[in-house]
Amino acid sequence: MIKHERIHQPIPCTGCGQMLDSAGGINDDTRPPIDGDHVVCIGCGQLMEYKMEVSLIEANIDDLPEENRAGLLEMQAAVKLVNEARADS
Ligand SMILES: [Zn+2]
Repeated sequence: MIKHERIHQPIPCTGCGQMLDSAGGINDDTRPPIDGDHVVCIGCGQLMEYKMEVSLIEANIDDLPEENRAGLLEMQAAVKLVNEARADS
């Protein structure tokens, strides 16, 4: 699923406040995240868009390019499963 980890300055998730300092790429792109890239929080599954030099903002899956949706929905589902497993233990 995640092919590359790309480090950036710590910024808080808009959903849970967890500080995020890297992004795992779902394609072969190894560049750091840039303005307009999308990310799923590893802590809560919140879908967001990078606004570099500022923060993250919430993003709506329906507004994203079709080719990006499946990978991001897969990441959200994976985070939800992990969180459910943690809550059950
Ligand atoms: Zn979060």
